[in-house]
This record gives sequence, structure tokens and C-alpha cells, in this order.
Amino acid sequence: MNDSTSTPGNLSPKRILVTGGAGFLGSHLCERLLSEGNEVICMDNYFTGSKQNILPLMENSNFELLRHDVTFPIYLEIDEIYNLACPASPIHYQHDPVQTTKTSVHGAINMLGLAKRTGAKIFQASTSEVYGDPKVHPQHESYWGHVNPIGFRSCYDEGKRCAETLFFDYHRQHNLQIKVGRIFNTYGPRMHPNDGRVVSNFIMQALTGEPITIYGEGNQTRSFCYCLDLIDAFVRIMATGDDFTGPVNIGNPDEFTIRQLAEKVIEMTGSSSKLVFNDLPSDDPTQRRPDITKAKEELSWEPKVNLEQGLEKTIAYFDGLLKSGATGQKV
Ligand code: NAD
Ligand code: UDP
Ligand code: UDP
Repeated sequence: MNDSTSTPGNLSPKRILVTGGAGFLGSHLCERLLSEGNEVICMDNYFTGSKQNILPLMENSNFELLRHDVTFPIYLEIDEIYNLACPASPIHYQHDPVQTTKTSVHGAINMLGLAKRTGAKIFQASTSEVYGDPKVHPQHESYWGHVNPIGFRSCYDEGKRCAETLFFDYHRQHNLQIKVGRIFNTYGPRMHPNDGRVVSNFIMQALTGEPITIYGEGNQTRSFCYCLDLIDAFVRIMATGDDFTGPVNIGNPDEFTIRQLAEKVIEMTGSSSKLVFNDLPSDDPTQRRPDITKAKEELSWEPKVNLEQGLEKTIAYFDGLLKSGATGQKV
């Protein structure tokens, strides 16, 4: 299990804005920041997040919830911003692709404007998708990527790339303290059961005895990071000095084929589900693994939870959801 107490954290309490705070990663981040005594303002429009995710935090007097769309300006007094607002699963970000780009681009401009006015440090939840379908493997931060600018994934990939551009231009032009983390596939409790991502799909299918849907032949690879490991990296990135801007890759370098993941989930759930092979979506990256040398050197960070340990916790979470009948919730 990840030892979150061993990280730098915030020694003096701060007022921190988390956009997308009611989502999968955002809710874990809010919880972590509150546990360190900070005041947390969670801002979300509930497009894919839910109040359910942050329900346990509502009783904490240091926690405040704002229903707000990051594409609109907002005026707050804060010390730090974690900008996570953006749908992350392909079916969600492709549902309204124009809004997805606006969320990344207008959202970044508003949050950077807010950071500029308040002098807040600002973290951007960027993504391995900035590398597209990479021609360099594993992916190092110096790689510029191989991205289709006009495909179905472009609203997400190019929106996030443009957000990175804005972060670095605000840094150069207005001297903002920016921190850019490139997140690789992350999973864990509070992922939405119907968001179509591979880990949630496979576990839900295995637990309900439905066929496991492999897209393509299942030879494409991903490297899966457990959520609490990732949150630990977020906090470490924010705690770096003024000269550290990133971008820095954060993810688990253990790489698996999608077929291997399916087999592991079947084995761990004891499921009788069979594998079925569907069409591969367009522009689906064939391989992905982070080079985390920079994170190790600059943040003294590397993931501690292996796939089996993380899947065990995630399977238990989805099993609980199924037993409570809560899987149909709108997020
Ligand atoms: P998520 O969908 O659970 O969380 C995103 C949150 O942003 C949701 O609560 C959603 O309601 C909110 N949101 C969306 N549009 C908004 C808007 N216009 N205004 C305000 N709130 C808005 O996804 P997640 O996995 O928790 O991802 C969080 C962040 O991390 C995203 O920026 C995502 O791009 C990034 N990321 C995640 C992964 C991953 O594997 N989970 C990988 C790379 C990057
Ligand atoms: N902004 C915001 N909150 C603030 C300050 C700015 O939401 O506290 C938004 C506002 O919409 C603005 C954008 O951030 O347009 C960019 O701000 P910046 O100061 O860079 O540019 P300008 O105000 O000149 O557009
Ligand atoms: N995938 C799959 N079956 C599913 C869902 C996804 O085979 O039911 C594949 C998908 O084609 C991709 C990989 O799993 O190659 C990871 O998909 P996900 O949507 O989780 O993340 P991303 O493609 O954004 O990395």
C-alpha cells in the first residue's frame, strides 16, 4: 500500500482550488489535501464527476464545493490550483468534442488568469496523450509526440497540448509558477463503472459474467498506475521549487498488453467471462509506457503499488458498487 505520509505535503495549511475535484482523481486529491490540514475548494460542473465521490468530505469544515464550469471566469483568493477539470475517458471526451477542447483551452486560460492575479502556483493535469500514437518507446518528456490533429481523439489530445503551450507561455511571459504533470493511464476506486475505460470495463464485465471486450487483437500496450501513487506525485510536483516547471511523466512503467490485462482480471475475479474481439477504435495508440527517470530524480517518486495490488482494491470497489446497486449513477 502506498505510504502517503512519507511525502513532503504542505507543512503550513493553504487554500487550494481543485478543478474537476468531484471526479475520480480529483476526489482522491481533495481527500489527500484535506488530510494535510489544507482548505480545499472543489470546483466541478459534474459532467463526469459526482457528489457521491466527495460525499465523505462534505462534513469537513475545510472543504467547500462549487458548481462551476471552468470555461467561465471565476474570482477566488487561493494559494494553489490543481487544474484537473476535463473528461478523461474516450467515450466521455468524444461525447461533446467542442466542449472538451474548450474545457482544456478556455479552462487553462481562466485558471492561468486566476493564478496570475493571485500569484498562486498552478498544476496542470496533462496526459500521455500529448505523445499521441508514439513512435518513440518508452516515452521521455523530450519526445514531441505523434498526434493526429483532426481525428476523434484530437479534441482531447490537442486540447491538452494547447493547455501545455498556454502554461509555458504564461510562465515565460508573466513569470507564473507552473507545474505540468503528464499522467499515464491511472485506475482505482471511484473510476466511473460506465466510462468505457479498459480497467473499469474489464472488471465490470468479469464481475457480471459478461464477455470481456478486447478492441483489436489486444496486443496494444498500456502501463497502469494506481490512483494513490499518482496523487502522491501531484503533491510532490506542487512542492517543488520555483525552477521546476515540468513537464514530468507520472505513471507506472510496468507495461502490459490489453490481452494480459484481461487475463489477469479474469484470474483475479475467478470469472467465467469469455474474451470477445471488437474493432479497434481509430487512432488508438499501439504502445505506451512512461520513462519516469525525471520523476525519480526530481521528485524522488516512483509508484509503489503493482498491478495486482491495485486491481485487488479496484475489484473490491466495483464489487461493492454492484452489491449496493449504485452502478447506474449518472456522473
Ligand atoms: P474524471 O472524468 O473522473 O474527472 C474529470 C472531472 O472534471 C469530473 O469531475 C468532471 O465533472 C469535471 N469537469 C469536466 N469538464 C468540466 C468543466 N468544463 N468545468 C468543471 N469541471 C469539469 O477523470 P479523471 O480520470 O479523474 O481525470 C482527471 C484529470 O486527469 C483530467 O484532466 C484528465 O485529463 C487527466 N488524466 C487522467 C488520466 C487517467 O488515466 N485517469 C490520464 C491522463 C490524464
Ligand atoms: N480570470 C479569472 N479569474 C481571475 C483572473 C482572470 O477567471 O481571477 C480569467 C479571465 O476570464 C481572463 C482570463 O482569466 O480573461 C485570462 O486572464 P489574463 O489576466 O491572462 O488576461 P486578460 O484578463 O487580459 O484577458
Ligand atoms: N480497450 C479494450 N476494451 C475495452 C476498453 C478499452 O480493449 O473495453 C482498449 C483500448 O482500445 C485501448 C486500451 O484498452 O487500446 C486503453 O483504453 P482506455 O480507454 O482505458 O485508455 P486510453 O486509450 O485513453 O489509453
